[in-house]
Amino acid sequence: MKLIDNYGRVLKDLRISITPRCNYHCVYCHPLGMEMSDPPGTVSVADVRHFLAAAASLGMDAVRFTGGEPLVRRELPEMIAAAAGTPGVKDVAITTNGSIFRKRHKELVAAGLQRVNISLDAVDPQVFRRLTRGGDVNVVLDAIDLSLELGLHPVKLNAVVIGGVNESEVPALAAMSLERPLHVRFIEYMHLNNAPFDEYRRQYVSGAETRRRIEERFGKLEPVETDPSSPARVWRIAGSQGTIGFINSVSEPFCSHCSRLRLTSDKKIRPCLLTELELDIAPAFTAADPVAALREALLLAAGKKPKQGSTLPTLRERVMLGIGG
Ligand code: SAM
Repeated sequence: MKLIDNYGRVLKDLRISITPRCNYHCVYCHPLGMEMSDPPGTVSVADVRHFLAAAASLGMDAVRFTGGEPLVRRELPEMIAAAAGTPGVKDVAITTNGSIFRKRHKELVAAGLQRVNISLDAVDPQVFRRLTRGGDVNVVLDAIDLSLELGLHPVKLNAVVIGGVNESEVPALAAMSLERPLHVRFIEYMHLNNAPFDEYRRQYVSGAETRRRIEERFGKLEPVETDPSSPARVWRIAGSQGTIGFINSVSEPFCSHCSRLRLTSDKKIRPCLLTELELDIAPAFTAADPVAALREALLLAAGKKPKQGSTLPTLRERVMLGIGG
């Protein structure tokens, strides 16, 4: 069984946001003000188990836990174990800022975590601190080392490039791929944080410009064969261990290959990151047969997945933090 939308796209990848809370306040993502606890109605371990059983029965085989910061959620290991134990799920990953990975890695790996994407937007401590509003880059660099030591594979690093904030960090970030099998992915800044439109337009940097900066420093990049359904176009600095990817969501939208559905932490299916449409599926979690009800909800959501989303700056009801990137 496959979950296929109205445009023939096979939906295989689930993003589950398990909390709206985050201990970093990245300028491109987080409105100021930190929630101290998860609001009532936040997705539970049992909810995740039921949702994954329904999704896997429809052929969805990859799950990524995100947020907010998924590691601030105490029950993350149980959720990872639920994913790893769901027949049909092949890929269990997290997207994290890495700040508390050392503290929690044992329970995550024991639960069945296979791989990590770690956000790293700067290597310079001051730039990193400014961008995350207080984060310590050395803690995150340590989490990256640890991920490699643990044999998690692949270890991907996500960097959102923002003009006047961290674009000067691009060569240092690219250099992370030289000596070790680290996969650095440069993500175009999307207007998902309700920033003033003019400021956003000033700060947006295209993937082509980021690539130009890298090639200026390291020479022409060599192409690496990639799965066409992957959002990243992947290259390599000659002789390097890792790769450099570009996720050009704004300048080269990859909607025609999109294979994702998102579950928000307040139990809404968001068929497209860049479209406000959300389906409130909370009642399905309390149905007599939640797995059957969630299957129906997933089929309905697949039928509502838009052909493409819009990256034009607009005021959005929900910022990235609440959706789960
Ligand atoms: N807290 C985790 C982290 O820091 O990776 C997971 C959540 S975060 C919302 C997930 C991803 O979304 C990060 O890689 C982040 O860089 C990306 N992201 C957030 N806001 C973005 C924006 N405005 N444009 C592009 N990517 C964004």
